[in-house]
Amino acid sequence: MLKKIEHIGIAVKNIQSSNELFKKLFGKELYKTENVESEKVTTSFFMLGESKIELLEAQDPNSAIAKFIEKRGEGIHHMAFEVDDIYAEIERLKKEGFETINPEPKKGADNKLICFLHPKTTNGVLIELCQEIKA
Ligand code: ZN
Repeated sequence: MLKKIEHIGIAVKNIQSSNELFKKLFGKELYKTENVESEKVTTSFFMLGESKIELLEAQDPNSAIAKFIEKRGEGIHHMAFEVDDIYAEIERLKKEGFETINPEPKKGADNKLICFLHPKTTNGVLIELCQEIKA
């Protein structure tokens, strides 16, 4: 079961100027920035109630975010849903006919295990499953 929208990811060209823009929009400060080596992105996070907004800037022209911006411009890139057991959810969703992009969950930003579902099986929406990594 997907429990709630954990965050919405927005692809941006310049994270510094976007941080300023979204600070003004939300009327609050971001709470963290983080480089995610596995995805070759720099991220920043804003907390809004129970959900977060993640800004993503590519660090490498071959990263998924750079390719997304090249094709479609800046904008909403993915929606992330919180799950309790990412391995069980992946099994369940595969049985339902969904395809994952990465074969195994991997370490994402903000202390999460993450896995993306292929948008061709989800009406064009890139969906991220995420599970908090417990220390
Ligand atoms: Zn995300």
